[in-house]
Amino acid sequence: TIKLSTRVQAVKPSATLAITARAKALRAAGQDVIGLGAGEPDFDTPVHIKEAAIKAIRDGFTKYTAVDGTAELKAAVVAKFERENGLHFSPDQILVSCGGKQSIYNLAQAVLDPGDEAIIPAPYWVSYPDIVLLAGAAPVFVNAGAEQRFKITPVQLRAAMTEQTRLVFINSPSNPTGMAYSADELKALGEVLREFPRALIATDDMYEHIRWDRDQAFVNILNVCPDLEPRTLVLNGVSKAYSMTGWRIGYAGGPEPIIKAMKKVQSQSTSNPTSISQVAAQAALEGSQECILEMVAAFKERHDLVVDALNAMPGIECLPTDGTFYVFPQVQGLIDGLNSVSNDLELAEYLIEQAGIALVPGSAFGLNGCARISIATSRANLEQAMERLAKVAELAR
Ligand code: PLP
Repeated sequence: TIKLSTRVQAVKPSATLAITARAKALRAAGQDVIGLGAGEPDFDTPVHIKEAAIKAIRDGFTKYTAVDGTAELKAAVVAKFERENGLHFSPDQILVSCGGKQSIYNLAQAVLDPGDEAIIPAPYWVSYPDIVLLAGAAPVFVNAGAEQRFKITPVQLRAAMTEQTRLVFINSPSNPTGMAYSADELKALGEVLREFPRALIATDDMYEHIRWDRDQAFVNILNVCPDLEPRTLVLNGVSKAYSMTGWRIGYAGGPEPIIKAMKKVQSQSTSNPTSISQVAAQAALEGSQECILEMVAAFKERHDLVVDALNAMPGIECLPTDGTFYVFPQVQGLIDGLNSVSNDLELAEYLIEQAGIALVPGSAFGLNGCARISIATSRANLEQAMERLAKVAELAR
């Protein structure tokens, strides 16, 4: 048998991708399965972005670029942080990577050692724990249930912090819960973080634009605790906001020594992100932002439809979200009511086999008894999926 590294043996493949693949395979085999697992917008990439990439190919912009991104794209990222977030970075404080995921991976490789701890609020995006494990460090989970709107409190954070805490993740709005921290909540977490100068902070703003309350400006922890700037990394990307998941462009802004170290990791792994995608990302950041508003309006309508439908079902409770294209209902009532089902993993199996609905069990995100439903699919699909789920809920009553 082939011996694999201890590091790689410690991680598991992404559960969300697994469900999506399973639904796809069943559909290919002729089964009628509605996929509610998708972690990407169902809209096409806007035309002006695609055209910029086509032009880049025609112009022969098809070679290596600087490892950390073209000067033009980095300038667009600097301008974006300035314009939308009120954050001031120099180009040396920016690293463009192959998706937001690589930004996080680079960060973990650059700052974590064995013995270090990384705090991950749960429910969490599936990749954080494994990225931490691949860096040889230990994930430390802080659990936040529906009763606290899936958001951790300062008291919980303080209880989890130790001398070994090296990195603290904040993801707002959150995948999978859709909840966003308010300015006051972030300020309170920041007060705890101030007491632990060794801890770096990673604010994952990937869903910044997918929020319902457009009158409220987006806030991250750096906006409310600017003194944390020497140890905070701001992570973002074009994947979700511009429906560009396949283009693989993410970016990070932060303290220069950390960005430099992250760049070193990238230079010895992938080198630069795709030249063509960088031109497309620049067009996304510099072009009209109208496309975002259209997508967000559609997501909000679907959110209302799905949350109302779920709350009308016996055994299911679903909090309205602040944003993202996920909702995170509590489905323990279904689990309790179905004889052949004893946890959320088995419920997901049951739903895919018996009801033709593919969703991701909450335990994949660190919270049992829940499920993540992606609303990044058509209204018609969502309506039909809710009808199917309602039948199961009646059965489980
Ligand atoms: N951060 C969060 C919270 C996400 O949900 C995702 C994608 O699912 C990412 C980062 C990574 O995005 P990308 O596709 O740009 O790697």
